Amino acid sequence: MNSYQKEQLEALQTVRCHMADLRDELLVKLQSPLEEYFLFRKQTDKFLSDYFSTICSLSCYQNRLSACCSKDGIITFFADVVINCLKTTEAEIDQIEALLKKPNDGFKCIYLAPEGCVWLVKPIVCQMFLCDKAQEEAFSKNTRVYEQWEAFKKKQKDFTWPDKIVLFDRIESIFIAAGCSSTLMYLNKSPGLLRIKHQAGLIEINKVEGNV
Ligand code: SF4
Repeated sequence: MNSYQKEQLEALQTVRCHMADLRDELLVKLQSPLEEYFLFRKQTDKFLSDYFSTICSLSCYQNRLSACCSKDGIITFFADVVINCLKTTEAEIDQIEALLKKPNDGFKCIYLAPEGCVWLVKPIVCQMFLCDKAQEEAFSKNTRVYEQWEAFKKKQKDFTWPDKIVLFDRIESIFIAAGCSSTLMYLNKSPGLLRIKHQAGLIEINKVEGNV
């Protein structure tokens, strides 16, 4: 197991360990933003299927050159792990855990199984990744497609970018209040993101300097 796998595994085990206790709190306190997020994911899934499935199948999946899944260390947020676990069965999480414990000897993402990505709600970074070639092909044909994609990118920030109180931060906060910690809690640990929260008046300067 490399350090990336170890970090991912620790986050997954932390979520698993506390999910039974925190599930109700998450679903009650975050009901509305979670519903909004799942709607956003449904809309982007449809958009990607409508405008990119043909391009991506031809250029990537058929010749196995998928650019997005060929990186061995994709960024995942702690909230990605929580959201996926909310939608996933224990057996499916077992499969993810087993993959994380296996040596990754290829040049593919550790989460890429022969049947595809093992995440049911894949990380937001993956959802919003479109390679330059695919963008060029789809956007050059239709400016409305480009405009819609830009609108989705803007909407994504409503869940992940902490210049206001966002879903991904609220999820981290619920686990932090329960005594959990993870290096994937970027909205509460990344100095860059903490600075943005400070500039937005959401946290005190000492939290930025202390990198809590
Ligand atoms: S997490 Fe899934 S979608 Fe993202 S890079 Fe890995 S296999 Fe691909």
